[in-house]
Amino acid sequence: MTPPTHGFDTLQIHAGARPDPATGARQTPIYQTTAYVFRDADHAAALFNLQEVGYIYSRLTNPTVAALQERMAALEGGVGAVCCSSGHAAQIMALFPLMGPGKNIVASNRLYGGTVTQFSQTIRRFGWSAKFVDIDDTDALAAAIDDDTRAVFCESIANPGGHIADIEAIAAVSDAKGVPLIVDNTTATPYLCRPIEHGATLVVHSMTKYLTGNGTVTGGAIIDSGKFDWSNGKFPSFSEPEPAYHGLKFHETFGPLAFTFHSIAIGLRDLGMTLNPQAAHYTMMGIETLSLRMDRHVENAVKVAQWLEQDPRVAYVTYAGLPSSPSYARMAKYCPKGASSLFTFSLKGGYEDCVKLIDAVEIFSHVANLGDTRSLIIHSASTTHRQLTEEQQIAAGAAPDVVRLSIGTEDADDLIADLDQALTKASGPA
Ligand SMILES: *Cc1c(COP(=O)(O)O)cnc(C)c1O
Repeated sequence: MTPPTHGFDTLQIHAGARPDPATGARQTPIYQTTAYVFRDADHAAALFNLQEVGYIYSRLTNPTVAALQERMAALEGGVGAVCCSSGHAAQIMALFPLMGPGKNIVASNRLYGGTVTQFSQTIRRFGWSAKFVDIDDTDALAAAIDDDTRAVFCESIANPGGHIADIEAIAAVSDAKGVPLIVDNTTATPYLCRPIEHGATLVVHSMTKYLTGNGTVTGGAIIDSGKFDWSNGKFPSFSEPEPAYHGLKFHETFGPLAFTFHSIAIGLRDLGMTLNPQAAHYTMMGIETLSLRMDRHVENAVKVAQWLEQDPRVAYVTYAGLPSSPSYARMAKYCPKGASSLFTFSLKGGYEDCVKLIDAVEIFSHVANLGDTRSLIIHSASTTHRQLTEEQQIAAGAAPDVVRLSIGTEDADDLIADLDQALTKASGPA
């Protein structure tokens, strides 16, 4: 393990990586293998019994993926991490050991559109359900948590509205009720925000976004704080004998690593939402420069947001890095290095002008992604948040007159010039 005393810039390059013991290769090799040869029959039995930690089959563990898991745990300040094939897979994997038929989660109503759909529709097929609340209203949050609630879920910086969650206040409520707090830290990244330091139990990521940073692969991760007491009677997957693992009690056997071991031994084994080693490699390459990119993303986002805010064609800009944002005061506490580079703005010309603007940009790419070195633009209401009702769209910050930007690391002046010419085509000259 890399000592936790190292700084973030050191950890993003070194955590989890060591010269390859077989060849001395300095860069972590892509272990493109499905299976691993056992030393002998006893070794194989010990691995299958979880008495010895090692590699069996790449649906469960792979050395390249393991290096990334260790790096993610180090960057978020957790005890362990599990990588998955996408951010959405990570969300299901995070809920899987906590939930059961009839159980529910209480989630913020400001979430990525795909997450709203996953929680309001798809998880019902498992007998799970979600209640959505205004997460700033801690009384409403406390009232929504009932005897069947097994998790509270929010985003640190919400996609797309840029709202910053008061993680400490939310953690205080969920702690008092004995339920874990899961924070989606995709938009902030661990460089800008470290939810575990503010009381989060689990952190989930879409590594597809800023962590990989170049729009090449999908990936997800769950980082465990190791701090939650799974023996409080609500979480039999951890506290009771596990029938799918010959009666093993995960909490008793693995202590603070119970969630991590369960997610690998049961979650990945039986759900199979595994990250492949090639994708893990791309993501690790991205993470090596995370802090450098995030500083530039933030610097550019501030410049573009300030320019948009003073433009007469623009109704409003929701970027937590602007003093006009209701989240601005929270930025100092939760993400003092900046509020990432994802935000929305509204056009006075409404839906029509938004669509025209999107067709007129030249440097910005019209894609359903974010957190790329390239600047990206999308009209959320007609795309990522299309499955939502208009009421849900407005609550999520994706109203029909709103455009979402993910500001890249290009020259800010070029980005502003591109938006200016596109706004002129959409709404006329300033
Ligand atoms: C993209 C995204 C997800 C889903 O991640 P995938 O890798 O696309 O599955 C979840 N949460 C947030 C905040 C996202 O931006």
